[in-house]
Amino acid sequence: MKLGNDRGRAVLISGSVATDIANATKGAFGPSLASIYERWDDFLIAAKEIDTSGGRSVSPEGLGSPAPLPRQVFAIGLNYRSHAAETGIAIPTVPAAFTKFPASLSGPFDDIELSSETVDWEVELVVVIGRRADRVPVESAWEHVAGLSVGQDISDRTLQFAAAGQFSLGKSYRGYGPIGPWLVTPDEFDDPDDLEMSCSVNGTVVQSERTSDMVFSVPQLITELSEILPLLPGDVIFTGTPAGVGFVRQPSMFLAPGDVIESWIEGIGTIRNTCRAPGH
Ligand code: ZN
Repeated sequence: MKLGNDRGRAVLISGSVATDIANATKGAFGPSLASIYERWDDFLIAAKEIDTSGGRSVSPEGLGSPAPLPRQVFAIGLNYRSHAAETGIAIPTVPAAFTKFPASLSGPFDDIELSSETVDWEVELVVVIGRRADRVPVESAWEHVAGLSVGQDISDRTLQFAAAGQFSLGKSYRGYGPIGPWLVTPDEFDDPDDLEMSCSVNGTVVQSERTSDMVFSVPQLITELSEILPLLPGDVIFTGTPAGVGFVRQPSMFLAPGDVIESWIEGIGTIRNTCRAPGH
């Protein structure tokens, strides 16, 4: 099942057709995606009965973030072996977690207003929590995931590494967390722990990896994080980026106004974001 955000209303997406969930369930669920995540188990049962014959045609470009304003956003640094290797930093023994403040999140095709000349890309698998997760064992962790989406953890490297590390601020400028184009439920994947992913800038592939290279898998992240605090319906986890980011290259590469970033994950789709100059 694919769920989208059509101008603030939750829609069920089949092919290029979107069905308004609140209308189709006579107001029992929705209209927002947030309210659906809140009753995720009930929704999974009701969704089987939704009649999609009255849907309307939509394009991914018209959709907003499937996690528009979560209560908590977790982001994980150094969570791919390939990325840890390119930075020369040891593989972490606990998830290197920070937050992207929720108001920094944006839609799958929104522009990115660059904050400096040292802004970098990071394609990431994004997890949205469905069922509340509190001290969840690895074996049942996937049952707490509403679905997967594609994200970009846009990062201002200068601010990120200022004052001994400002990861949360350096990755939370306005619009630095595009997510989309929709949410795909875990049952749609043959193996949700092994998805191909890539990122290109102006058509040149800069990142290409599989999510099976993660240091802490999605279930392990849910177990580790939910041991510390509960993960709430609609919460977001940016699960880390693979090798190929700009700041570790020789010479360094950063985003410039006009650059187009395309981020793709197998079984989910593509998001596309155009960079703009500061103040534009
Ligand atoms: Zn990241």
